[in-house]
Amino acid sequence: MEGKGRQRVIRIRGARQHNLKDIDLDLPKDALIVVTGVSGSGKSTLAFDVLHAEGCRRYLDAFLPASHFTLGSLWRHERPDADSIEGLQPTVAIEHKRLPADPRSTVGTVTEIHDFLRILYARLGTMVCPACHLPIRAHTIPEMTQEVLRLPAGSRFLVLAPLEPAPHAQLAKTLARLRREGFARIRFEDKIYLLDPLPALPRRKTYPIQVVVDRLILKDDASRRLTGSLELAAQLGNGRVVVAVVDGPELSFSQNRVCSRCGWTAPEPTPRLFSHFHPEGACPQCQGLGCLQGTRKARSSRITLVPGEAAPCEACQGTRLNDRARSVRLGGRSLGEVSAMDLGAFRRWLQELAVEPSLEAVVSGPRHQILQRVEALFQLGLDYLPLGRGAWTLSGGEAQRLRLAQQLNSPLSGVLYLLDEPSVGLHARDRRRLLRTLSRLRTAGNTVLLVEHDLQILRWADWVVDLGPGGGTEGGRVLYSGHPDGLGRCTQSLTAQFASGARRLGFSHGPPKGPADGNGNTLQLRGARGRNLRDVTVTFPLHGLTCVTGVSGSGKTTLVRDTLYPAVRNLLHRSTMTALPFDALEGIHNLQGVVLVDPAPIGTTPRSIPATYTGVFDLIRNLFANLPEAKTRGYRPERFSFNTPGGRCETCQGEGRQRIDMVLLPDVYVTCPTCRGSRYDEATLDVRFKGHSIADVLQMTISQALEVFQNLPAIRRRLQVLADVGLDYLRLGQPANTLSGGEAQRIRLARELGRRTRGHTLYILDEPTRGLHLHDVERLVWILRRLVQKGHTVLVVEHHLPFIACADYVIDLGPEGGPGGGRIVAQGTPAELACKGTSHTARALAELKQ
Ligand code: ADP
Ligand code: ADP
Ligand code: ZN
Ligand code: ZN
Repeated sequence: MEGKGRQRVIRIRGARQHNLKDIDLDLPKDALIVVTGVSGSGKSTLAFDVLHAEGCRRYLDAFLPASHFTLGSLWRHERPDADSIEGLQPTVAIEHKRLPADPRSTVGTVTEIHDFLRILYARLGTMVCPACHLPIRAHTIPEMTQEVLRLPAGSRFLVLAPLEPAPHAQLAKTLARLRREGFARIRFEDKIYLLDPLPALPRRKTYPIQVVVDRLILKDDASRRLTGSLELAAQLGNGRVVVAVVDGPELSFSQNRVCSRCGWTAPEPTPRLFSHFHPEGACPQCQGLGCLQGTRKARSSRITLVPGEAAPCEACQGTRLNDRARSVRLGGRSLGEVSAMDLGAFRRWLQELAVEPSLEAVVSGPRHQILQRVEALFQLGLDYLPLGRGAWTLSGGEAQRLRLAQQLNSPLSGVLYLLDEPSVGLHARDRRRLLRTLSRLRTAGNTVLLVEHDLQILRWADWVVDLGPGGGTEGGRVLYSGHPDGLGRCTQSLTAQFASGARRLGFSHGPPKGPADGNGNTLQLRGARGRNLRDVTVTFPLHGLTCVTGVSGSGKTTLVRDTLYPAVRNLLHRSTMTALPFDALEGIHNLQGVVLVDPAPIGTTPRSIPATYTGVFDLIRNLFANLPEAKTRGYRPERFSFNTPGGRCETCQGEGRQRIDMVLLPDVYVTCPTCRGSRYDEATLDVRFKGHSIADVLQMTISQALEVFQNLPAIRRRLQVLADVGLDYLRLGQPANTLSGGEAQRIRLARELGRRTRGHTLYILDEPTRGLHLHDVERLVWILRRLVQKGHTVLVVEHHLPFIACADYVIDLGPEGGPGGGRIVAQGTPAELACKGTSHTARALAELKQ
């Protein structure tokens, strides 16, 4: 068709990975492509398990050195199940995962901005004595000479090395001693004492005096000889020279840095001094962590505790750097101070940095590199981040945008970039900026493929692929592939129905709202001051669905997850979580419980499955242990567990498959030859319920299981909530590490819904719409509404506009991110905000309403 030239399309034929139904697809190159579809329809499978897996496999050699991101993902990928994939470019996946939990990594180090700053500080920084606050610098010999020559005529001075100041009165004595010792053959000449070259000078000793100068008359080559003396003195004194002026001030010079007042001294700074990864620069107390228990907290606690926040290291005040590194200033500020600024303030500081023209050449390279990186971070709405912020404290969305920013700095071309929902965590205001950035990547000659649900992004794309119609086995077909304008004609597609406006969510559309003002009970948090919060007092209505909104970095998480949640929990459940500071919490007597539905993945091992996670498997195992056959054999419930020895297959230890380690190639999994994937031994499988063994149960989808267990209320109730959150297609035994993000979060939600609660519970959710198609969002709103109808309160941190429009009440933080945020800028019903609000959220809601 196209001859031998470069193919204009990526041709996929017969893809059958996971739930994909033998699909054929042609994707245009050098285009912005959006893959969309309801949750579980196969989007990630297509993007990551087919395209990226094949890209990694094929371009293994070319990309190994270039990108360490690919290296990690490489190990997971096997050859995808497809007949052929042609025209594929090398792939780079920009993942939606938190950055590695190295507690020393910061925004600055991850973006390399810190590395360029280290060069600037080392080359241009002024060192300030920590005790005397005097700037101290190193001197060159010509500088020393000039200083000495500037002394008033008639001064008598003494050049000393090393530093130990010799009292002036001892001048004569010292000279005498020197003569006695026989090495300093001091010559008198034009009243300038100079040392002879000292070939025989014994090196083991340091000599207090080299030169005595009486500069009554300085003529001819006196200055040259003075220079010679100073050079010699510096050599003998390890770079340090003191010029004692008889009856005058004492000048101290050093080729090292030394404070002339207290003698505090430091070698010339090198870039290494400014690295908290290196012993030369790291604070010795905290070893560059900025806090003392940061690491442990980072891993074990659900709320984010921050180095420098929970227990800032006292020695370095959380800056991670030692005294010496912090004594160096550039543009009046230490690197610790600069790292604490948000990127906006940082950029101003850098642009205003005045340097001598002679040093411009040194500065311009690093400055350019830094500004380029800062610009990319700005474009992606990360301007509120400070460079010193621990990388592990960034959310998945922030981490992804940081990775994306890095790609923009060293743009490749001819690459297929794959991104999973880059809009997560982004306020509507910032989506445009994101789109412009992605368009730039495309214009640079790349193909950009996004897995996305956001309609605004979808309309902007060059090409849309819609998968569906449902999730799991109900999905995996291509409903539409083409320009976004044509999508509306595809009646089968839920995406199309929303995109054309035939179906809508938000305001008067979607699930009915609760009573306008509930029963008037409220929960009031007063004087919250954590991080950027400006002493805010918030009144949360109870018995309703409330959204906390605001641009990224405005303080939503700080307020809800890190202040309110631990505060309520500590009071209600006598826990001792760290809550960020606040003055008072009122109205707590209205609540009996609080639950945080965490967005993190539910399991990283194949041993965790939906059945175990939701607790339904315990009930099923009890059921099996109570069957007559099990009783006769004396099988207890543990027998039916694949995680403990007893009934499981010992060849694979209950995993059903075995991993074959390949040293330099992706791991290969093979079905366990003993149990043939069933995870259990033969005897255990003999026990059957309605003809199904325990292994059969794990193979059932939730809707099949609902039928099999319909007469067992406890089991049915738990399965029903899974079906209610839209996971009826999922298999009970699907390994948790293979669930999509949206699936994982809904399982977590289902677990919370399946619990029997005592009285009024406050449910807190953090961006529950991530990974969800509008159709799924609609379903989510129904579930949350049901909670409200049962008398509970739901508080959600969200960016998703149609979702926000479905809420009863909105509390909007801002106006901007970081130090420019932390206040309540609007509150009210979504309709009220849309009518009269002036905040970013209010404006976006008003646009949505039109
Ligand atoms: P989406 O990205 O559209 O939400 P996915 O591509 O993640 O959907 O998943 C499509 C289907 O394939 C889902 O039913 C999911 O549970 C299933 N699936 C995903 N990964 C695996 C896997 N590694 N093994 C088996 N099934 C999987
Ligand atoms: P939002 O949830 O609205 O995006 P956050 O509450 O996460 O905002 O952030 C508010 C401010 O606090 C921002 O300036 C952000 O950089 C800072 N911040 C958030 N989390 C941390 C953390 N773990 N450590 C240090 N600063 C943080
Ligand atoms: Zn420290
Ligand atoms: Zn086995």
